[in-house]
Amino acid sequence: MRYYDKLIFELSHKGRTGYSLPGSSLGKVALPSELLRKSPLDLPEVSEVDVVRHYTNLSQMNFGVDTGFYPLGSCTMKYNPKINEEIAAHPLFAGLHPLQPAETVKGAQEVIDGLDAALAAITGMKHFTFLPCAGAHGELTGLMLMREYHLAKGDTARVKVIVPDSAHGTNPASAAVCGLEIVEVKSGADGLVDVEALKPLLGPDVAGIMMTNPNTLGLFERQIGEIAKLVHEAGGLLYYDGANMNPLLGKVRPGDMGFDIMHLNLHKTFSTPHGGGGPGSGPVGVGERVLPYLRIPQTSGFHGNFGVMLRAYAYILMLGREHVKMAGPLATLSANYIKESLKDCYKLPIPTVCKHEFVFDGLINDGAREGKAGATTLDVAKRLLDYGYHAPTIYFPLLFHQALMIEPTETESLETLDDFIAVMKKIAAEAAEDPDILHGAPHNAPIGRPDETTAARNPILKA
Ligand SMILES: *Cc1c(COP(=O)(O)O)cnc(C)c1O
Repeated sequence: MRYYDKLIFELSHKGRTGYSLPGSSLGKVALPSELLRKSPLDLPEVSEVDVVRHYTNLSQMNFGVDTGFYPLGSCTMKYNPKINEEIAAHPLFAGLHPLQPAETVKGAQEVIDGLDAALAAITGMKHFTFLPCAGAHGELTGLMLMREYHLAKGDTARVKVIVPDSAHGTNPASAAVCGLEIVEVKSGADGLVDVEALKPLLGPDVAGIMMTNPNTLGLFERQIGEIAKLVHEAGGLLYYDGANMNPLLGKVRPGDMGFDIMHLNLHKTFSTPHGGGGPGSGPVGVGERVLPYLRIPQTSGFHGNFGVMLRAYAYILMLGREHVKMAGPLATLSANYIKESLKDCYKLPIPTVCKHEFVFDGLINDGAREGKAGATTLDVAKRLLDYGYHAPTIYFPLLFHQALMIEPTETESLETLDDFIAVMKKIAAEAAEDPDILHGAPHNAPIGRPDETTAARNPILKA
């Protein structure tokens, strides 16, 4: 039996304890009766070692980048150097009180200013605000700046924002929350924004365009110079979703591509452990045009997620100007290596050189035959768990029905990539032989296949 098959309540044994309290010199003091519980507290009675094993086992039921390779596309699950944690946890930073007088927190202000300058140098923006606490929050902030830019000029007709069909779901969602109307622009067969399809969409009612470059297929939008020219000529602005900044670090700057406003996901590109909802930081940078509308002060209530900003600053200073440039080429090399190694087993809809990530469209031989359904992308993802790997992003982007989006990042060794490739090939062979092996996966994980809809709509978060 595995230890985690039992709840800690089931390990409880009446009268067993894991602690002893020191005696008090003050004697016993009775609490007012209205503060007392009406019934005894139902707590498990266990020894110290049971408690330690309980929490240690729980920690191992979770998958993290510290336990294994995590090729989740669009999320940049790179290894996060432990020195960052040490710095963020330093009592002189962690112990700061948000309401401390400004003259006592000069060091923290220096970190914020230093990070602002570093990010401006990396992106070609003028300044950043650290108000937003996630990428999506940054998108909303950036779009509000875009709207303000137009309104300040008395231009009230610009109510539309153009979003490519390959965009991350947060892009149209943020535009909708901002009260803008979303106009979709199609991608061509090469996976890039179709400039000819864009032209007729531009006009005096367009506030701007939101783009990710490289886009969510991991492809560099090579026509970005032409797109920027067209959008600016039409009076619009360009918003850059910086979640995919990793492959461009120190090489290419959104500001030089013509973008006016952008966000960065510090928790992705600049190394903060993430997943499961936070903490994040989505600073928004602006170029010359939008600079007058940037909010002062540049940090949110209680100075944003300062710990994330510290980690990002430590990461940038540690790598320095020279080594920051290494992340992109290495991440790009890793992605292309996996793509080329697996394209005989998995359908590769766009065969060109990718940047940091790429998308397969399911298995080439999914094992479907008379009376037997083939293995899907979901089945491949579940089977990977049996082999100790986190699944890639699946069914996103929406351009392909069986999308399987892989982003290895720059931090994995060749041996890890080779092992992952071998496992992916093995899974493809299993599917061809007997897809039922995959249909039943995972076979070794603590939880098999939950009913995903029920699990999402009615999560049971406690026993
Ligand atoms: C992650 C991501 C976002 C949203 O960022 P959050 O920090 O999760 O809010 C937006 N766009 C792209 C392309 C992303 O990968």
